[in-house]
Amino acid sequence: MALLSRRFLVRRTLPRILIVGGSFAGLAAARSLDPSRFRVTLLDPSPWIEWRPNIHELLSRSKTPAQLQHDRRLAIERLGHEFIQDAATSVDRTAQRLQTGAGLQLDYDVLIIAVGNIPCDKGGTGALEHASDTKSVDACNRLGNRLTRLAAMPGKRPVVIVGAGVEGLEMLGEILRRFGGKEQLDLHLIESKDSLFERFPGMHEHLVQRMGHQVTLHCGQHVEKVATDHVLLADGTIIPSRITLWTAGSHGHPLLSSTGLSQKNQEAPVNEGLQSLFDTTIFIIGDAARLPHPLEKQAYHAQDMGRHVAHSVRDYLAGKPVPAFRPRPKPSLVSFGDRDAFMIFGDRILASPALLGLKEAVYQYGYHELMPPRSRHELSALVRDLRHGVNTLDTWRLLAGSTEARLFQAR
Ligand SMILES: Cc1cc2nc3c(=O)[nH]c(=O)nc-3n(C[C@H](O)[C@H](O)[C@H](O)COP(=O)(O)OP(=O)(O)OC[C@H]3O[C@@H](n4cnc5c(N)ncnc54)[C@H](O)[C@@H]3O)c2cc1C
Repeated sequence: MALLSRRFLVRRTLPRILIVGGSFAGLAAARSLDPSRFRVTLLDPSPWIEWRPNIHELLSRSKTPAQLQHDRRLAIERLGHEFIQDAATSVDRTAQRLQTGAGLQLDYDVLIIAVGNIPCDKGGTGALEHASDTKSVDACNRLGNRLTRLAAMPGKRPVVIVGAGVEGLEMLGEILRRFGGKEQLDLHLIESKDSLFERFPGMHEHLVQRMGHQVTLHCGQHVEKVATDHVLLADGTIIPSRITLWTAGSHGHPLLSSTGLSQKNQEAPVNEGLQSLFDTTIFIIGDAARLPHPLEKQAYHAQDMGRHVAHSVRDYLAGKPVPAFRPRPKPSLVSFGDRDAFMIFGDRILASPALLGLKEAVYQYGYHELMPPRSRHELSALVRDLRHGVNTLDTWRLLAGSTEARLFQAR
C-alpha cells in the first residue's frame, strides 16, 4: 500500500503529457515515452486500435475485424500509461487545459495532438450522407455485408467507387477478388484525373488489363451529386448506384480549427520540430499536421512523427531546442485484390503479384508489433492469424507473378 502511494505521489510530480488520438501517431508517441519520467494520458473515443492499411480486405472477407483491431485500453495500460475513452472537444490554451465530451478537464504541460483527418465531400455533393464510409473497421465490415446481400440479389446491381487513388483501387481490388468472377455487380470507378496513376505512362493500361473488363471507368469526370440510388456527374451523366463508396479525399479535423491551430478544414501548420506555429506547448503529428514540406499521409510517417515527438518532449521540457523532424522515404505497398500489387517508390512503381506476399508480411509484422503477445492465448491468436494470412495467399500466383513484374517510371 505504502509502495503504491509513493508511486502515486511520484507520478503526480511528473510532467503531464496529454496525447489526443491513439492511432499510429499517438500510439507511437506513447510507446516512446517512459512512464517513470512522464505522466502520460492518452485520450481517444474509440476502444479499438485499428490497422487501417488492410481494412479493404474486409470487403473480400480475407480478413476479419478481429484481425485488424486491438484493445486500446489494454495496449496503453501495458505501456504504463493512463487511457481515457473520450473525445477532446476544446482546448483552453492559456490555462493549458483540455475539455472532453464527457465533461472532464485535463491539465497538461505538453499536448500532443494526433487526431488524424476526416472524410470530406469536396463541395456539398451529398457524399457524406449517401455514400459509404471506408475509413474504419466497422464501416468496411458493414460495407462487406451490404455487398454480399447485394450480390445475392437477382440481376446486375450497380456499385460505384468515387476516387481512384490508392484507397479506391484497394477497395475495388477486394470487390473484384470476392465478386469479380461472378459478375453480379456492375462496377463503376470514377476519377477526376484523365487517367489512373497519371504520372506513370503505361500504368493506366496495366490496371485496366488487371480489371479484366469487369469495371466501367469514368476518367476526367467530376461528381456533382451523390444520391441514395445514383451518382450525377458534372457532364450530366447519371450512373445508377445501389452502393456508393466515397474515397475521394479528406480534410482537417474540426478540433484543430476550433482551437485556433488551423484554418477551417485544414491540417494544422507546424514547424520543423512538429510544434504548432501558434503554440509551442502543442505538438501536432500524423495526418493532422501540415509540415513545412508536404508529406504523404501514410501510417509509417505518422509513426515516425510520434517517435520523434516523444524525444523532442524531453528536450522541450529541459528548455533545449527541439530537433527537426526528417521524414525517411519509404516505399508504399498497394494491393489490387489477389490480382496484383504495386510498390510505389518516388518516381517508380514496381508492379508484381509477388508483392502480395510482402504486403501480407508487412501487415503481420506491423499489426502484431502494435501489441506484442504476452500470454499463450495471445501467442496462439498470432499463430492462427499468420496461418490464415498464408492461406489467403495463392502461392502459385505469387511465384508465377514474379515473372510478370513490370517497372513504371514517372514522366
Ligand atoms: C482505407 C485506408 C487505407 C490506408 N492504407 C495505408 C497503407 O497501406 N499504408 C500506409 O502507410 N498508410 C495507409 N493509410 C493511411 C494511414 O492510415 C494514415 O496515414 C494513418 O492512419 C494516420 O495516422 P494518425 O495517427 O495520424 O491518424 P488516424 O489513424 O486517423 O487516427 C486518429 C485517431 O484520433 C482519434 N480521434 C479523432 N477525434 C478525436 C478527438 N476529438 N479526441 C480524441 N481522439 C480523437 C481517432 O479515434 C483515431 O484513433 C490508409 C488510410 C486509409 C483510410
